[in-house]
Amino acid sequence: MSSSELTLRPFFWRATNLFPETEVVSRGPDGSTRYTYREFGDRTRALAGALSAIGIDPGDRVGTFGWNTHRHYEAYFAIPLMGAQLHTINAVLPDEHVEFIVDDASDEVLLVDPGEPFETVERLWDRLDGVREVIVMDDSIPDTDLDCVSAFDELVADADAFDWPELSEDQPAGMCYTSGTTGRPKGVEYTQKMIYSHAMMVATPSAIGVDESDVVMHVVPMYHVNSWELPFSSAMAGAKQVYPGPSPDAETLARLIEEEEVTLTAGVPTVWITLLEYLDEHDVDVSSLERIVVGGSAAPHAVVRRFEDEHDVVVEHAWGMTETMSIGSVSRAKGRARGWDREARFEKRAKQGLLSPGMEMKLVAEDGTEVPWDGESVGELYVRGPTVVGEYYNRPEANAGSFDEGWLKTGDIATVDEDGYLELVDRAKDVIKSGGEWISSIELENELMEHDDVREAAVIAVPHDRWRERPVACVGRRSGSDLTADDVLEFLGETYPRWWLPDSVVFVEEVPKTATGKFDKKRLRDRYADAGLARAHGDEGGDDDGREDDDAEAN
Ligand code: ADP
Repeated sequence: MSSSELTLRPFFWRATNLFPETEVVSRGPDGSTRYTYREFGDRTRALAGALSAIGIDPGDRVGTFGWNTHRHYEAYFAIPLMGAQLHTINAVLPDEHVEFIVDDASDEVLLVDPGEPFETVERLWDRLDGVREVIVMDDSIPDTDLDCVSAFDELVADADAFDWPELSEDQPAGMCYTSGTTGRPKGVEYTQKMIYSHAMMVATPSAIGVDESDVVMHVVPMYHVNSWELPFSSAMAGAKQVYPGPSPDAETLARLIEEEEVTLTAGVPTVWITLLEYLDEHDVDVSSLERIVVGGSAAPHAVVRRFEDEHDVVVEHAWGMTETMSIGSVSRAKGRARGWDREARFEKRAKQGLLSPGMEMKLVAEDGTEVPWDGESVGELYVRGPTVVGEYYNRPEANAGSFDEGWLKTGDIATVDEDGYLELVDRAKDVIKSGGEWISSIELENELMEHDDVREAAVIAVPHDRWRERPVACVGRRSGSDLTADDVLEFLGETYPRWWLPDSVVFVEEVPKTATGKFDKKRLRDRYADAGLARAHGDEGGDDDGREDDDAEAN
């Protein structure tokens, strides 16, 4: 029997006592803040003292609308360690989602970054009935008509250090909402034990592996599944941390890697596509960088190869969901694959990989039977484990379709090969079902992004009279390229059968993205629902039918 519960307290203790001199660096609009875990610890205790003084008690929810900064990081520990619940809110959601989420979660106090997040709160104030205080994460407050606003740094300077209470491991500590790419946002709660377990799992070499020699740059927004929990793992490991501030562009990330000697970072593929482009044209020393964890949507093979070949950076492909507290699988070559040639190893590593320690999975067919692990048969991925949520908050109707006797039904359609490597074919909602057969949008996107003239590409299903659905490719060309729809189809035709080829190729300046940087397929589907599909597969179609050149669509 253990005398301790699994809570975040020992993570905080370890960072502040065993690595008190290790740095946390945070980029702000007026330069960087640089301090040590010792100062981080003092400010975090003071923040908890300030929150307690304004009446936050164990069990209360505190919402945050913040970018990746040291103040937000202090809130990451102060709120859960005092027994309250950290509810990270996507700062750039549409107004009606913000209003719904704050109300649904019953947030009492909001910690808000200046600028756009504060303007959102101000604009919606009359509709945020339950909120009684707003703390601006800055050293002073902006000009405002609201009378319940205070400045984070002033509160911290005036507050007494808080003593962490004994907490139960089942105490809710965090809360996130799915970003709503597939409908109304759904809330999930993370207990102390869940965050503890996930951070431990991430830190093991069997998942990501984080230790005190690492310099971790947090690119995943802190409102997106707790920045994949890396801020917690990093503290536990005693790693130096770098917070890149509001909306960092490729130049900012490249400079931070060089100046802070970043070794490990993580984020969605679109971030790394733009960083590669930046590195093509600028002379930046990124030689410190050892690993990039890419996930959230499928890592394009071309991006993985280019980082490895041109920058000697290992790209680790990871899969996860809000419901699995982010990272649930990571792709590495197993021991027995180490003797294989590079190409064979790459084939494994390009998949979503091996389920992380602590979890279990199975693939389930539409008729409820289990699908064999042969790398071919597809089924819905079911997962379970201590880092997988057991229900949605306040949404009994959603629970019924998403959980099955302790398993989370992920809604992801996948194969698993003989070696246990998971490969996502599609999201159930993104699957293209043409004439009863599946076409993988992920595979087509990957292949498209192998083309030298293609910067990014998303493939969606659009309704079709005869085949029910057909693929449409939305392609962003590299600057200066005069790639045509015919070139695209010819290229895909080298690898895929004719019926897999998109019925229409739409050129866009930029593929629209969600707030978390994923391709916004819902928006694309709405936009191209009637893409004028004239070329049904199997027909000997007229050359340019149904293919638009749509540069004017640029947003
Ligand atoms: P949202 O559901 O709002 O997009 P999540 O971050 O919870 O927010 O999204 C989880 C989904 O993202 C997964 O169910 C899966 O469909 C997709 N996803 C995550 N990682 C990968 C990956 N490496 N490859 C392909 N799809 C991925």
